[in-house]
Amino acid sequence: MSRLLIVSNRLPVTVHADQGDVSVVPSAGGLVTALRGPHERHGGLWLGWPGDLARLTEEQRRDVEDRLEQLGAVPVHLTSAEVSRYYDGFSNGVLWPLFHYLVEKLHLDARHNWESYREVNERFAEAIVARYRPGDRVWIHDYQLTLVPAMLRRRIPDARIGFFLHIPFPAAEVFRILPWREQVLRGMLGADVVGFHTTAYRYHFVYSAARVLGLDPDLETLAYEGRRVRLGAYPVSIDVDEFVRLARDEEVRAEARRIRESARGRKIVLGVDRLDYTKGIPRRMLAIERFLEREPELRSKVRFIQLAVPTRENVDAYAEFRRVVNELVGRINGSYGTLDDVPIHFLHRSMPMAGVVALYLAADVMMVTPLRDGMNLVCKEYVASRIDDTGALVLSEFAGAAAELIEALLVNPHDIDAVASTIQRALVMSPSEQRVRMQALRRRVVTHDAHRWSHRFLNDLERAGGVPPAVG
Ligand code: UDP
Repeated sequence: MSRLLIVSNRLPVTVHADQGDVSVVPSAGGLVTALRGPHERHGGLWLGWPGDLARLTEEQRRDVEDRLEQLGAVPVHLTSAEVSRYYDGFSNGVLWPLFHYLVEKLHLDARHNWESYREVNERFAEAIVARYRPGDRVWIHDYQLTLVPAMLRRRIPDARIGFFLHIPFPAAEVFRILPWREQVLRGMLGADVVGFHTTAYRYHFVYSAARVLGLDPDLETLAYEGRRVRLGAYPVSIDVDEFVRLARDEEVRAEARRIRESARGRKIVLGVDRLDYTKGIPRRMLAIERFLEREPELRSKVRFIQLAVPTRENVDAYAEFRRVVNELVGRINGSYGTLDDVPIHFLHRSMPMAGVVALYLAADVMMVTPLRDGMNLVCKEYVASRIDDTGALVLSEFAGAAAELIEALLVNPHDIDAVASTIQRALVMSPSEQRVRMQALRRRVVTHDAHRWSHRFLNDLERAGGVPPAVG
């Protein structure tokens, strides 16, 4: 069978250096889980940035490289200036906010960030070429590497290349704002298969390619530079078996009981997000405030828990955002707290997966209300963990997952009144309605798991490519 080369910004490992010793630990996380299976099965390589190794001695570095090689991982090293320009500056300071429709957060003036993005993308393409063997399939991931497919195509014209975008592709009217729109489109079109989470994102891409490059719009296949580029919608998912296993684990269940006991009979409404401005946390807090204002008799009967995972602390927009969230939580707890308790328990930290699943098991209501989210895995994890078919999911219409999880209580996260009413509705939902909704949600999540996602994409990549028929 042909090898699979997976290419992503980060390698799926964390390098720890402690005095003389170094360790290379496989990391967890959505993308890693979804790709580990294909990586191991197809006996290929994974190329990406291993993190900052500048503090290591020469000997430690060699040791790390050996261990990476044993894991089938190929490091693409970045300098700290490149991390600050290519990654923080362009990927997370321009593409991330633009593709999530947050135009006011864009930093378009720093041209050197774009230059660095291009250079680092070239470096990734060269790293692939150095390891490529005829017959390999190459699967490139996400918004940090949009130029790599075309750069690789130039160097190896007959390579079989797939590209998957893990964030939304915005409407053409928004995408066209990007000064480098043409380069980004041409970069992605270097692939044989370009994958998105939803048919809506695929549509936006096709329409952008038509507007910006003058291509004939076709939702399935674009004819581009004498090749066919296949476009597909492949909703990413989770390793369901792992969440079911954790949900059955005695220690996890004991922790869930402990969380419930500490809530002393209050119902628990949970949020779990990176502290990212796309996740809608401030508007969620405003909806909670509206709910508390409107429902005095429920105030003492609910506990809100928000796990907010630290993220991208080097990007300016995030520091200001943290301040806004802290102030909101402080104001609401100041207004509605008592000597015994506060309504919002706000945790600014990350947790091991078992701790997150204990929270999922303890929560009567899960709130997932991003302003935009490519997919959102937290909502699927909640559903997978609810093995007794109880609980209620409040889900933003603007998460990619809303296209699949239609039995959730879908809300417009911008509409604070509607979110406040939906919290109330979720809290009083009857056990039989919970069961009907959760069973339908679980059926979909169980049958459309991460393995199916990678399998479908790789199948299409196997069959893709080719020359379009001559016209006329
Ligand atoms: N997560 C985690 N530790 C935490 C909280 C969350 O590892 O303390 C995980 C969570 O289980 C999920 C991922 O982080 O798998 C978040 O993925 P999602 O698609 O919801 O959002 P993203 O952060 O990728 O934008």
